[in-house]
Amino acid sequence: MKQTHARKAENFVANEARVDWHSAALLMLRDKRDLQAKSLPEWEQMRETASRMKLHVLSHLPELLRQFADNCEANGMQVHWARDALEHNQIVAGILKARGKKKLVKSKSMLTEEVHLVPHLEEQGIECIETDLGERILQLRHEPPSHIVVPAIHLKKEEIGELFHEKLGTRAGASDPTYLTHAARESMRQDFLSADAAMTGVNMAIASEGAFVVCTNEGNADMGAHLPDLHIAVMGMEKIVPDPESAALLMRMLARNATGQPSTSYNSIFGAPRPGTEMHIVIVDNGRSRRMTDRRHAEIYKCIRCGACINTCPVYRRGGGHSYNYFIPGPIGLAIAGDNPDANSEAWACTLNGSCNNVCPVKVPLRETIAYHREQLARQKRLPYGKNFYMPVVGKIFGHPRLLSLAMAAARVGLRILPHGLQSSLGGSWAKSRDFPVAPSDSFANWYRKNRGA
Ligand code: SF4
Repeated sequence: MKQTHARKAENFVANEARVDWHSAALLMLRDKRDLQAKSLPEWEQMRETASRMKLHVLSHLPELLRQFADNCEANGMQVHWARDALEHNQIVAGILKARGKKKLVKSKSMLTEEVHLVPHLEEQGIECIETDLGERILQLRHEPPSHIVVPAIHLKKEEIGELFHEKLGTRAGASDPTYLTHAARESMRQDFLSADAAMTGVNMAIASEGAFVVCTNEGNADMGAHLPDLHIAVMGMEKIVPDPESAALLMRMLARNATGQPSTSYNSIFGAPRPGTEMHIVIVDNGRSRRMTDRRHAEIYKCIRCGACINTCPVYRRGGGHSYNYFIPGPIGLAIAGDNPDANSEAWACTLNGSCNNVCPVKVPLRETIAYHREQLARQKRLPYGKNFYMPVVGKIFGHPRLLSLAMAAARVGLRILPHGLQSSLGGSWAKSRDFPVAPSDSFANWYRKNRGA
């Protein structure tokens, strides 16, 4: 069984300085996002329209997917359907092997993390180079991303300097971001030139056009896709939008909400293969259609992966992305993971404060979905260890006013007479970084009766 979120977060929390700058870096993104949102008077209206458009997509998914696929084929692309991760990986490997391709440059795609594509291709002797800078850093460190938009946010520039010194031969001790970026660019340029295939993700797939949008800040997707004669794009089936106007609406919101930029630096619309080249698109289900049958879970597929809910989440900011077992961290990861057994403890890595709901550009009901998963896990008797024992007891106490009043009275006495050390050990991990309050002399209910009662 995998470690719980709380246990994994202990490693991150142990380094207080890292926790502080990690949290500050993410809050800075949140602040930039707020400035951008406030600069558009129509922002709230855009959120409402985007949410309704994505609900329309979810309720017309089969027709829109068919329309998209037909139009892609009419435009000269080859469309593939993958039921699950294995089928996706076999399709991609099949396309590459049938054409004798040996080296793939790929831009960032959370879908390829979901299906574990890179290890699968490497087992087949196909070299895969991540070309997003953050992803490349993590590839060199053999680490998964810790965030869906800024995947190496947990690393300091000094750590990247050491890594590049070891792997790319940069100057020892150098940590200047511009110098390191130039070194990465130089090394990647060789990979772009020697690759014989490219892979991109898909930000929006436009049904009416049979075209797809790829947004990056580094231009790496475009560089990769325009050099070799084979481009494979992979997408989860929820990436569909009906028309170019809908794509434009999401493009207007995506970067603003993700990193506080008015737009990503590169927004490319791929509509057909260049003459003499091939373009393939792989559309993946991998459990989505099953999960969409649950109305309380389905709305998470409105998500456009901007990462804003992650940036604002206090648990993520202070616990780090590698504390989560599911490949997507933070509120959207908790909401998607749902019934994933590896992520059993993650539904509780949330304070239900709702800040994620407030920043989501497509109004995904994150807090409600996470609470729903807790309810489902409890019904299925899959509460994490400990909660199985004490949550039913707590439920009984909270359900009976007299019992609650007696328990509170006992707690007030305990807080007054028990030694501090004993209180802390009874408080378990809650008390590790918190002090117990000074016990009031009486209950709030009694105070209210005496002072405000009729
Ligand atoms: S749930 Fe909303 S805020 Fe979170 S990543 Fe998705 S679109 Fe962004």
